[in-house]
Amino acid sequence: KLLLLSSFSGGAGGLLVFSDYNPLKSILASDATLSDGQPIKKKKVVVLGNGWSGYSFLSYLKNPNLDVQVVSPRNFFLFTPLLPSVTNGTVEARSIVEPIRGLMRKKGFEYKEAECVKIDASNKKIHCRSKAGTTEFDMDYDILVIAVGAKPNTFNTPGVEEHAHFLKETEDALKIRKSVINCFERASLPNLTEEERKKILHFVVVGGGPTGVEFSAELHDFLVDDVAKIYPKVQEFTRITLLEAGDHILNMFDKRIIAFAEEKFQRDGINLKTGSMVVGVTADEISTKERETGKLVTETYGMVVWSAGIGLRPFIRDFMQEIGQGQRRVLATDEWLRVEGCDSVYALGDTATINQRKVMEDIAAIFSKADKGNTGTLNKKEFNAVVKDICQRYPQVELYLKKKQLKNIAHLLKSANGEDTEINIENFKKALTEVDSQMKNLPPTAQVAAQQGKYLAKCFNRMDKCEKKPEGPLRFRGEGRHRFQPFRYTHFGSFAPLGGEQAAAELPGDRVSMGHSTQWLWYSVYASKLVSWRTRMLVISDWGRRFVFGRDSSSI
Ligand code: FAD
Repeated sequence: KLLLLSSFSGGAGGLLVFSDYNPLKSILASDATLSDGQPIKKKKVVVLGNGWSGYSFLSYLKNPNLDVQVVSPRNFFLFTPLLPSVTNGTVEARSIVEPIRGLMRKKGFEYKEAECVKIDASNKKIHCRSKAGTTEFDMDYDILVIAVGAKPNTFNTPGVEEHAHFLKETEDALKIRKSVINCFERASLPNLTEEERKKILHFVVVGGGPTGVEFSAELHDFLVDDVAKIYPKVQEFTRITLLEAGDHILNMFDKRIIAFAEEKFQRDGINLKTGSMVVGVTADEISTKERETGKLVTETYGMVVWSAGIGLRPFIRDFMQEIGQGQRRVLATDEWLRVEGCDSVYALGDTATINQRKVMEDIAAIFSKADKGNTGTLNKKEFNAVVKDICQRYPQVELYLKKKQLKNIAHLLKSANGEDTEINIENFKKALTEVDSQMKNLPPTAQVAAQQGKYLAKCFNRMDKCEKKPEGPLRFRGEGRHRFQPFRYTHFGSFAPLGGEQAAAELPGDRVSMGHSTQWLWYSVYASKLVSWRTRMLVISDWGRRFVFGRDSSSI
């Protein structure tokens, strides 16, 4: 937009009128007054993090009555789904990051390159430290939005922190890229035994989730497409081992996708070891405990990548202690993304999870309330009305209802009650407990994080209006309505790139798609999801460069 205008209008005036950035806007906003001439005191919103949830929140936020301050140690947004492609040079790191300063300038928000180290919820303050650790400062807030994501989880496995690579940030991907190339250069040196070359070129990936699988696939592509040409003498010594503690890789995906991925990896010669739990890593060896045999197996390796799960950042754990959530594994919010147990604090993305147990308790209470005569039963009509009510009040539960879980329970109750047309509430509550255990938390994905950011921004944009005219569902504890509708997640499907220009995808409506055409779908979806035309152009040109010239093997 700016480019077009600067060439056609040829003047700064044109830019100011047509571009989204208008410096006058923030000045006017800060001078806004009430009808009695008093200046409006803007609410100070402090946002921690500018990843998927934070960036999405900031992009959609447009409420001139908010003074927005962003704190994050990273002054760019990182498009994580393409991070595995950086590890082998398919895509360059700079192609998948978007500087945050552009958005800050456009929106009139303020950014501080620092990390939050403590949240003092009782005094509405946060304590921050600069990236270099040289400067410390405090900030107060009226509203705090926590969008700090998660950190890799080592499950306290000895040696992982010291010897394994993680794949979470751009620095991690660049380190892996360098390390892979270094392994090949080392293995190509003279006077090494065959055993030594085999050790150096043994790449171990821990964790068969989407990241571990995608990284293994990218590494395999690099070996097949490029290493064979660049390092032909040592190619025969290379080996990739993928370790997974569970029974299958990609266990959150449809069974058909799991089978397809496992078969493909076997065909490709990736050594897939399931039921294999890593118990320790040293500088040269990785030890696993095999579930079937109970044996301890130790193997030598050249490089280990750890992508076995995510955990809480330490300052979030301290914060949870302070607000009485110390027993939980993840920070809990309600369906409006408000952190339970404290005031004016919201949490989005991988840091938090919606407390489904509370939702189920609320649903059970709705049932009890519907039982006006206190008979302990509901007839079919009342039962259906209650289910409809639940769907309206708690749209996120609809997802589970759609999966027929509640219908199954109704069926279960019907058989429990014989031919009786009345539903026994106590039985139903018992059955709800079953649903509760079946109701999984939303997955820690970019899709969930981005939708939560957008949802919260839209709520904040309507904050003043909805204070007077709430638009959310009726409160069943107390009178009136909630200000906003609760957060509702829409699943658009998920991809698993499997290498060799093949991918698998779970699409809405329980459909799956696998193979080469799905890889093209993956290219188009991810190109469209990149947050700017600049990154889109860079990524597409990186893909083109790779097709024409292959990957760059320099270890810079
Ligand atoms: P993040 O995006 O991690 O952002 C956290 C932000 O908080 C960052 O800006 C960080 O700098 C900042 N921060 C950290 N500590 C502090 C602090 N102390 N104070 C202030 N700020 C702080 N999901 C998908 O849906 N599809 C995919 O294909 C996919 N692929 C992935 C591939 C990889 C390699 C990885 C690592 C993840 C992938 N994910 C994918 C998951 C997805 O990236 C996460 O679910 C998503 O990033 C979560 O968003 P978030 O906003 O919670 O956290």
